[in-house]
Amino acid sequence: ATVKKVKDRGGSAISMLTADDHEQLNRKAQIEKRLIHALDRRNLQLLYQPQVNLKTGAVERVEALVRWNDSEVGIVPPNELIPIAEENGMIHEIGLFVLETVCAQLKDWNSRGLDLHVSINSSIREFRDKDMSTALMKQVELHGCDPRSLTIEITEKFALEAEAERSIIRQMQQLHQQGISFTLDDFGTGYASFRYMLLLPISSLKIDRTIIQSITRQEKMQKMINGMVQFGKSLDFQVTAEGVETNEQLELLRAMNCDSIQGYIIGHPMEARELEKWLK
Ligand code: C2E
Ligand code: MG
Ligand code: MG
Ligand code: MG
Repeated sequence: ATVKKVKDRGGSAISMLTADDHEQLNRKAQIEKRLIHALDRRNLQLLYQPQVNLKTGAVERVEALVRWNDSEVGIVPPNELIPIAEENGMIHEIGLFVLETVCAQLKDWNSRGLDLHVSINSSIREFRDKDMSTALMKQVELHGCDPRSLTIEITEKFALEAEAERSIIRQMQQLHQQGISFTLDDFGTGYASFRYMLLLPISSLKIDRTIIQSITRQEKMQKMINGMVQFGKSLDFQVTAEGVETNEQLELLRAMNCDSIQGYIIGHPMEARELEKWLK
């Protein structure tokens, strides 16, 4: 193993790099290099996963999820891609790619009489750019999209950090005034704060998959999830459960009066064309 300074492991600590570490650093460097190339060529993809209203059975909206399969580095799942892009700043380009693709898709769906609503995921780093909200609205207008057809999903971690950053709150409020809505994603994973619920223009929350998937395991868990649903509803939030895979989970959520669900039991993330067929 080589002796080297590893910055992200505690400043100036000297540590021994194992072969595994080398491989990881190598992959990360490869990913960064290939990502520039892929973004240039718009070689990323978006899949759309339906979200269904439990009362009406209607597809309320779809969530846009990024996919990347590179000829050299292979499949890079979002959970690997997004943290790297957040760290090196390429998340801005990914966000722009997602927004442009979604706006064009919305326009196309609208022109063919398909009235869908799309959610996109945003990282806090994108909102640290002071021009984020202006640039976003510019894209929406450029494509002639209705801003009310767009939702931005922010994680609890994002919300907690945004609480202390005025310019982020201001940008969110500007977008909210223009008709864009915000959802609190991954709700229940450990950062819930009552303060940001009041400060940020949030109108819905999504209970995290890891929580939903333990719904059938113990009674206490069920009571907790029920509490989360009622908590959200009492604040006039739309409450969505994500990662619903079984009928048993679905029925429990229905009994709790949860507004909508997203998960493999309804449909996997799909390409736009596939989604159109699925909708029929
Ligand atoms: P998320 O926003 O919480 O998205 C839900 C994740 O759960 C997606 O994973 C989806 O494919 C997966 N999922 C949905 N239903 C089920 C189910 O029934 N069972 C299981 N096991 N999984 C289910 P995915 O696509 O791998 O994305 C992971 C995360 O990466 C997302 O979590 C989101 O935080 C982030 N992400 C994805 N696309 C983007 C993007 O364009 N921009 C940003 N900033 N983040 C993104
Ligand atoms: Mg999401
Ligand atoms: Mg989520
Ligand atoms: Mg999640």
